[in-house]
Amino acid sequence: MQELIFATNNKHKLEEIRQILQDKLLIKSLSEIGFNEDIPETNPTLEGNALQKAHYIFDRYHTNCMADDTGLEIEALGGKPGVYSARYAGEKCSFEDNMNKVLAEMKNETNRKAKFRTIIALIWDGKEYLFEGEVTGIITTKKHGKGGFGYDPIFLPDGKSLTFAELPPEEKNRISHRGRATEKMVAFFNNMI
Ligand code: IMP
Repeated sequence: MQELIFATNNKHKLEEIRQILQDKLLIKSLSEIGFNEDIPETNPTLEGNALQKAHYIFDRYHTNCMADDTGLEIEALGGKPGVYSARYAGEKCSFEDNMNKVLAEMKNETNRKAKFRTIIALIWDGKEYLFEGEVTGIITTKKHGKGGFGYDPIFLPDGKSLTFAELPPEEKNRISHRGRATEKMVAFFNNMI
């Protein structure tokens, strides 16, 4: 079976992608290939960062690899936190700090539209491919639910009455930004291998 390095050590993401691609590819994490450095993410866009991470690994290992980058884009905040979603409230901040910052900035805002956007960058046989997934919704006025991670307790996806933190994980994964980007990559592999 062909191998694909996923430039992450996030167990949740690895499990998800392994489950989806189990019949087609052997997915390896960074720690499994003995890579323990931090990969720079210095681009101002999700696309740029995903490509930067994939190339960083490809340049060293010359093997098929992928990387992803996700951001929460809030319309009333001009697309913030966007590419800065992980560290919106500062270096070493927690998910709670980030959500509190967003809720404070959105306190008197009536336009609460937002979306999560994921870009997957794949380098396959030396060629670059990008897959995008997004899910639209609104930012709630307070936190609801304990599941998921990141901004899940304050994101209510369109057409649902529960936040990402309240929805069962399978349901979230089915409609999520990452789920949709992954679906597109799977369609690509279904044609390729
Ligand atoms: P990453 O690029 O996947 O590491 O995501 C960057 C940041 O976006 C994370 O640190 C989270 O704060 C946020 N994020 C990414 N995916 C999700 C999600 O599915 N739910 C909530 N927050 C997310």
